[in-house]
Amino acid sequence: MDQSRTTVGRGRLYDSILDTIGDTPCVQVKSSVPEAVRLYVKAEFFNPGGSVKDRLAISIIEEAERSGQLLPGQTVVEATSGNTGVGLAMVCAAKGYPFVATMPTSVSIERRKLMRFLGAKVILTPKEDKAMGCYLKAVELAEANGWFLARQFETDANAKIHQNTTAQEILADFEGDRLDYWVTGYGTGGTFSGVAKVLRERRPETKIVLSEPANAQLIDSGISQERSTNGSPVGSHPAFEPHMIQGWTPDFIPAVLQESIDNKRFDLLVPIGGQDGIEASKMLAQKEGIFTGISGGSTFAVALDIARNAQPGTVILCMLPDTGERYLSSPLFEDVAEGMDEQEVALSHSTPGFHLID
Ligand code: PMP
Repeated sequence: MDQSRTTVGRGRLYDSILDTIGDTPCVQVKSSVPEAVRLYVKAEFFNPGGSVKDRLAISIIEEAERSGQLLPGQTVVEATSGNTGVGLAMVCAAKGYPFVATMPTSVSIERRKLMRFLGAKVILTPKEDKAMGCYLKAVELAEANGWFLARQFETDANAKIHQNTTAQEILADFEGDRLDYWVTGYGTGGTFSGVAKVLRERRPETKIVLSEPANAQLIDSGISQERSTNGSPVGSHPAFEPHMIQGWTPDFIPAVLQESIDNKRFDLLVPIGGQDGIEASKMLAQKEGIFTGISGGSTFAVALDIARNAQPGTVILCMLPDTGERYLSSPLFEDVAEGMDEQEVALSHSTPGFHLID
């Protein structure tokens, strides 16, 4: 019998790239995982814009269209560490809205370029002003120009899309199976809040594990975030320090996250160092062929630690929020050379033709 791989197509035609958002696969990882434990990753880089934030972007735009807050042709503006910007740029391009992103200079260059490639305008803010400066710039621009501010950190459309899509996919994929732990970090807290709410109701046995950078443990500090009546933060959180896990933990506790902290929708809060996240991301790439960013590596490092200490039969799922391709100019690729190393030069010289003279 011919054992070559075959595929059958998706069984449908798509009206728009936006209809391909979601339904990302849960894939088992075996390297370094004890044999009696199953560890899966939910690979959000399968989304068309390469990250989990495509879900948020389509949700914000479609909710605003339905409520009449966003009018045809109106400009959309948002403060973003990158992935939300790429998602919004993609959604806005597909739906015909101009899009302006405000972004700190600390975020990787390829993210700026990606957004501009998708037709967006990118306004850079000084990295010294952190996420807060970038956010206040977006507010200023929206007010001055009558633009629609996406408000990813406060809008109900954020956690809601994860309740309606991400969580439903997890329920369906693990139906009839164990799911002992679900592991995530937080940026806006949308993924965590939306999925945790559904899991608490539908899979109460699943332990929810939340992670934050070891040098920016905002939740663990127990210090509450000052915020104004519309939910937006007032001032940086005192426990914040700049960290390496792009997209995680801004310098304030977002309103979207606060509700789930208040309702204690997590069972474990685990700190992780950025360098450990980088090592785990490299491991996933080199041992499993799974290519994710620093936040994915960090989430995976936490999940792996749980796996190593778990009872036989335990099943774990962790989120991989985005693709590693978004990090070429970041510390994730710092050790990856452009030129050939000694071994590569030796290999090149081991046959007579086509070698560089050096
Ligand atoms: N990882 C990366 C790379 C991200 O861009 C984000 C979103 N900022 C997250 C994780 C966290 O997702 P959420 O905003 O849903 O908490």
